[in-house]
Amino acid sequence: MNAANAPMVIIGAGHSGGRAAMTLRAEGYEGPLLLIGDEVHPPYERPPLSKGILQGATDLAGCTFCDAAQLAEAGIEHLVGNPVARLAAQDHQLVLQDGRALLYSKLLLATGGRARRLPMAPAALANVLYLRTHDEALALRDQLQPGARLLVVGGGFIGLEVAATARLLGCAVTLVEAGPRLAGRALPAQISDRLLALHRERGVDVRLDVGLERLLGSPQVDAVELTDGQRIACDLVVVGIGMQPNTELAAAAGLEVGQGIRVDDQLRASAPDIYAAGDVCEFRLHPAGEYQRQETWRNAEAQGRHAALNMLGAGLPFAVIPGFWSDQYDWSLQTTGVLAGSLHTVSRSTAGDGLLMFYLDAEQRLQGACGWGPGNSVAKDIKLCERLITAGPVLRTDALADPGQPLKQWLRG
Ligand SMILES: Cc1cc2nc3c(=O)[nH]c(=O)nc-3n(C[C@H](O)[C@H](O)[C@H](O)COP(=O)(O)OP(=O)(O)OC[C@H]3O[C@@H](n4cnc5c(N)ncnc54)[C@H](O)[C@@H]3O)c2cc1C
Repeated sequence: MNAANAPMVIIGAGHSGGRAAMTLRAEGYEGPLLLIGDEVHPPYERPPLSKGILQGATDLAGCTFCDAAQLAEAGIEHLVGNPVARLAAQDHQLVLQDGRALLYSKLLLATGGRARRLPMAPAALANVLYLRTHDEALALRDQLQPGARLLVVGGGFIGLEVAATARLLGCAVTLVEAGPRLAGRALPAQISDRLLALHRERGVDVRLDVGLERLLGSPQVDAVELTDGQRIACDLVVVGIGMQPNTELAAAAGLEVGQGIRVDDQLRASAPDIYAAGDVCEFRLHPAGEYQRQETWRNAEAQGRHAALNMLGAGLPFAVIPGFWSDQYDWSLQTTGVLAGSLHTVSRSTAGDGLLMFYLDAEQRLQGACGWGPGNSVAKDIKLCERLITAGPVLRTDALADPGQPLKQWLRG
């Protein structure tokens, strides 16, 4: 076999890799197709891990968009437990952990990332947990018993969603965030403040501007010491301090890597016939724009599809309006577009004490929006905002701020 008639190969059987495999088949690719994963499960979506799975409201089948039978039916060979250990890009070859070498015709790197580890925590501490995979979610679920004292490290989305779910399950929760506000890198201060108020109202002891100094106790952690000297007793620590993209394979193969695997506008990496998608992919939305990586469902979904189309020769530039959501208690956050601090913001109140924030450029055109409200109450407005970003009308700030003014008015005509 030579590389030209070798299989198409996808490394990483997560959301983006799974979506790419299904798209290749849906778009008519009939050749050999190999999806290589280092988890034992079929591709699944991760958002329920910190929500429905932790609550026991859903299971793996509820997060899987193609189970083993569907993969088999689609003729997708799913290799588990034998991850790719080495990539020889010039030879179109990869080597599995068991030493087997394989050729590929086209390759997609969709290796995602892993939870960043706490530097001071030895791996052997059984009650210091992380949340990236389904198996990690099950391990955490077992320990979220009513009355358990949980210490969450990190006030980003994973930490906040775990805190919310743990409160719903009857745990006592303390959350420690080193920055001055919750989800501070991603959200405007007004929405961070709302998040803080809700978590405190629901009984989470949120500590801002304070870090973790050390873990106390052995062989299990039974307390932590904070940088301000305070000690907090706990039965369990959950660490949510971000994600580490799995770029090592690409970097060792000599591909261009920044904060992620660098791609061009068609999601092509820096060696022939190699593409990247999802959390591990570093891309630009505009030729002159900054490189960015996104860690969102929407990006994993869109880039998985897009990379597959381009592996089939479509040659399409990647251009999708970014967006994400987070569910905490019975509230939800939704965003669309760019929420850059350099943009002018306008806010409007929404039903049930919710809040919508609009991000405008110098010409008063919408670039992004962020909504926080009970249930799914902001979803419709965020969808309209997405259409406004695409349509690009000039907006009036006084009307934007007025809840009585329908957003639809700027889409007519
Ligand atoms: C707990 C949690 C909650 C989330 N909630 C939300 C949410 O509410 N909203 C939202 O927008 N986004 C959310 N996200 C983010 C979203 O789930 C991710 O952006 C998405 O899963 C990224 O998909 P991916 O395919 O790029 O990576 P992954 O899903 O991480 O898949 C990558 C796969 O590649 C495997 N792999 C790595 N290296 C190798 C190798 N060498 N060989 C073989 N396999 C390998 C990995 O083990 C993994 O299985 C959440 C994420 C988590 C963890």
